Formats: sequence, structure tokens, C-alpha cells
Amino acid sequence: MAVQQQVNKILRGIGASSGIIAGRAYLVERFKVRMPEKKIDPTRVDEEVERFLRAIEESRSQLREVKEKILDPVVRQHTFILDVHLMILDDEMLIQNTVDHIRKRKVNSEWALDLTLEKLDSAFKAIDDEYLRERRSDLHYVSSRIFRNLMGKKHDDITKIKGKVIIVAHDLSPADTLQMRLNQVAGFVTDIGGKVSHTAILARSLGIPAVVGLETATSLINGGDLLIIDGETGEVVINPTEEVSESFMERRKRIRSLEREILKYASLPAETRDGVRIQFQANIEMIEEVPSAKSHGAEGVGLYRTEILYLNRKDLPTEEEHYQTYRKLVENISPGIATIRTLDIGGDKFLDGYSKNNEMNPAMGLRAIRFSIKETDIFKEQLRGILRASAHGKLRILFPMISGIEEIRKAKALLEDAKKGLIRAKIHFDRGIKIGAMIEIPSASMTADILAREVDFFSIGTNDLIQYALAVDRINEHVSYLYEPLHPAILRIVRSVVHSARNAGIPVAICGEMASEPAYVLVLLGLGLQEFSMNPIAIPKVKKILRMARAEETRLMAETLFQFSTASEIKRYVRKWMAEMFPEDFRKSIAEELKA
Ligand code: PEP
Ligand code: MG
Repeated sequence: MAVQQQVNKILRGIGASSGIIAGRAYLVERFKVRMPEKKIDPTRVDEEVERFLRAIEESRSQLREVKEKILDPVVRQHTFILDVHLMILDDEMLIQNTVDHIRKRKVNSEWALDLTLEKLDSAFKAIDDEYLRERRSDLHYVSSRIFRNLMGKKHDDITKIKGKVIIVAHDLSPADTLQMRLNQVAGFVTDIGGKVSHTAILARSLGIPAVVGLETATSLINGGDLLIIDGETGEVVINPTEEVSESFMERRKRIRSLEREILKYASLPAETRDGVRIQFQANIEMIEEVPSAKSHGAEGVGLYRTEILYLNRKDLPTEEEHYQTYRKLVENISPGIATIRTLDIGGDKFLDGYSKNNEMNPAMGLRAIRFSIKETDIFKEQLRGILRASAHGKLRILFPMISGIEEIRKAKALLEDAKKGLIRAKIHFDRGIKIGAMIEIPSASMTADILAREVDFFSIGTNDLIQYALAVDRINEHVSYLYEPLHPAILRIVRSVVHSARNAGIPVAICGEMASEPAYVLVLLGLGLQEFSMNPIAIPKVKKILRMARAEETRLMAETLFQFSTASEIKRYVRKWMAEMFPEDFRKSIAEELKA
């Protein structure tokens, strides 16, 4: 059937990563990567057992292949690890138990294997021999390989896409997005998603223009259509006429020259007009972003999201890999500080074979520190890597998704264990390493006075804080209109966290996306924040506005905001205030916005 071509059809979504780009559409049929737990029909039991045994066999041959490929004699000495893994794959208990579960409980292989692992895991935990207990991690490596082989065939392989195309997908995970730079993807558009989803954040880091939350993109766009996407305004034009293309390209030229103009603020002193010193730091996901962080004026890294190390791979990063990565970060960002956030997996970023992608509510599930405290072997590898890197420069640790004091204490206890191990092995690390808590769950903000006794610093993560405080899923386009950084509740929370940090005498930074918006950052300054960590690209424009401001005036402005009862009133007031304070820069655009 011939497909009727649409011309100049405009779709409006959420601008997720700025930049205007034109290209041909490439439609991706995205399979939702979930770890399925299903009951199976009794007649299909044999088939399911077969499937499981095939996954075991596949895992075996993969491991043998890995082993054969290792030619380096030094590395070969360590291949006994692979032999251990091969032995686990032959383990009667692992295989027979899983097969029994499939047969007796009539569940699919993934579920059956999970049940076996739970049992084996507690058996391992009970062993009173440290060496044997440590073998739990081998069991996990092996099982994650089996899980991947069970599920892997169903995944779309985005790496197969070649050339300059605009990806059109229902949904893209952060892991998919991460692979894009390898494939020269010009941009992407998705049906679902929000501005502060990790997919959007990653697209900004990679500099890929993106529009999300279009709802109908995959049904309205055909593969091969010419698209123009504007990642700032959220507009997507299907098959634009030449005239329309030209007007977009004109706009692109203007934006680019404005960006060049604003870049000069990167190197200017970070100080308000009344002499308040501001600290600018970068949120990064990859080491490769360090040069950009520096050239955009970041003094250090306020948030290094370590999840990327774990995504798109068949195994887990080793302690050595953690160490080498963080060491490189610390050395490259020197003399600035590197804030390394421990694994924040779960929510919208999943670890193959480990994270339970089938959680009903992953944002409130086994995410971040909860996962690390449960999977202590994985956590300890990372902690040891971080500690070892701390011997090479200024480094501090940040724990994500802290909901209360007990989690901090557990995380600290595991850190202490890791430290003791290194001391025993006579390996250097910074004995005075500072640890911090992300304040991104309302319960943490309400108990910030208590948490402050246990940590050396706070970092307010408004991306999640807003999500959890306002009960607005940060990746759900249907409720994105409710995602309101200037909500009276958010202002009250930020004010009280700053107050608690001050009382306890510990520094407090903000690393949520909110800090990268000029209007919001003035409010944040007014609420007492002076350390801002953000996507490096945003630093020059934020610095420009803060250099024009007087901290004392923003304080008075912020105080006034507490009289208002809605986010709209607050926004209106802030924008008017900005237009009065900085007429040159804001009057026109704000007049337009108020009209809209
Ligand atoms: C946040 O929640 O504000 C934050 C900075 O962390 P992430 O976006 O990685 O959840
Ligand atoms: Mg967060």
C-alpha cells in the first residue's frame, strides 16, 4: 500500500536536548527490555527447559571463546576465573533446581533461575569462609550471562544503524542512547519521555539534539521521511518544504552565534556583583566530557554518574576498571575536585540480568543505594575502585537516593570494610575521604538535620526531588506539565535543606537540572545555594546571569516568593523581576513568554 507523504506536518513534544538538525527518519521497533516473570502453559514445559539449557550451553561456549582469545601470557594466568565460571555453569544444583522450578511451578526460565539464585545466594551468605563467601560474585557474573542469553535475542541492536539518521522510537533507554554516538545518529525523537529523564540528560551530554514525549511520532513518521527537529522548542517537522527548512537553518545560525558569544563567560570570575563567590561544577557521565567541562568554566565535577560504566556490556566492571576510570577523572579534573556518585541503577537505567526490570514501580524500587546495599559484591568493587583512585587527587564520594540515616550508616559501614581491606593489603587511599548524601527523596530533606551529622556534604538532586515530592514521574510526558521546579513545595524543601546544612556547618550543592536554568538559578542563589553543578554546556549562560545579579537582592526576591501559593504566580513574579533587573537580556523574551 502506498504511503501518503505528509508535507510540513508539525509535531510538538518536549525539547530534551537543544540543537536544530535535519535528517532522514529511521524507525526503531523498540522491544521493551524487561525481565519477564511468566507462568507458562503446562504443555510448554519441555520447550522451556530446552530454552534454559540452550542458554546454559550458549553461556558455556561464550566463556570458552573468551578464554581462547586471551593470548597475553600474564592475563592467561588469571583465566582460572573463567574456569570457575565454567564450573558454575556445570553445577548440578544450579541446573537441576532451575529445571525443577520450571517443571513444578510452571514458570519461565528467567523466573525459575531467579528462584534458584535466591536459594544459592543465601547458602553462600551463610558460609563462614570469606573466600568462599566472595564466590557469590562469580555466581552473579555467571547468572547475569545466562539471563542475557535467555533474553538477549529479543533486543533491538541499535549499533546496527549506520549513517546520519534521526532515530524515531517509541522509547529509548539511556543504554540505547549511549550507543548512539558510535553510530553517528544526528538526533532522535520518541513518543514518550520527559526533559529530566536520564535519556534526555544523556542526549545533552552527548550533544545529540532530541525531542521526546511526542506521543504519536512513531505512528505519524514513516521511515525515510525528511525531518527537522528543534531540541530547544520541541518542534518536529515532517517533510518540510525548502522555505521551512531555510527558516530553521536561519534560526540555527542565530543560536550558534549566540552560543559562541556566551562562551566568553566561561572563563570570567564566578562572582555576583556584590562579591559572593559561586562555585561551578560539572555533571558528567563520561570521562570524555572533562575537557568540555573545563572549557565551559567548571572548576570540578560535582556529579559523576557512574552508571554508564555498567551499561551496554555483558559483564560487570571490575575493581581495576573502576579504579582506572576514576583515577583518570581525578587526574584530568585536577586541581578541581571529582565527586563520584556510586551506582544509581534502577529507575530508568537497568543492569542486564541484575536489575529487576519487571518491577511495577522501578522509580520507587530497588534503585541506587538500595541496590548497592543489597548487591554488596558489586558495591564493594566500586568502593574499592573509588578509594584507590582517591590516592591520586581530590575525590569525594556521593551516595544516591538516600532516604534516611540507616542507609547512610549501611553505606558507610561497607565503605569502612572496603577501607580495611585496602589497609590490610597496604594499598593507598585518601584516609580523610569526604562522603556526601544526595538529597533527592523528601524523607531525606525532612531529616536533613539528622543526616548532616553523618555526612560531610549534601548535594540536592532536584530531578528526583521534584519527581518524588510532587509525585510526578520524571519520564512520563503525560504529567510533565506538573513537573514544576518553582512549586511552593520545592522552594520550601530547598530552603529547609540549606538551613539544615548551614546549622550543621556542612556544604550543600545542587546538581539537579534545575540549576541550569537562569531563572531558577537566581531563586536558588536567593535561597542560599552557592555551589552549582550542571551540564557543562549550561555553565556560561548561568554564569552570565549570576555575574549580573546581587546575591542580597536575590535573597529578598526569594523571600517574597513564599507569599505565593502557586507555581504560576511564582514563575510570573520571578520573570517580571528578571525583566526589571536585567532589561537588556530579558525584557523582550519575557514579554513574549507572558503573552504566550
Ligand atoms: C537528580 O536526581 O537531581 C540527580 C542529579 O540525579 P539523577 O538525575 O542522575 O537522578
Ligand atoms: Mg537522582
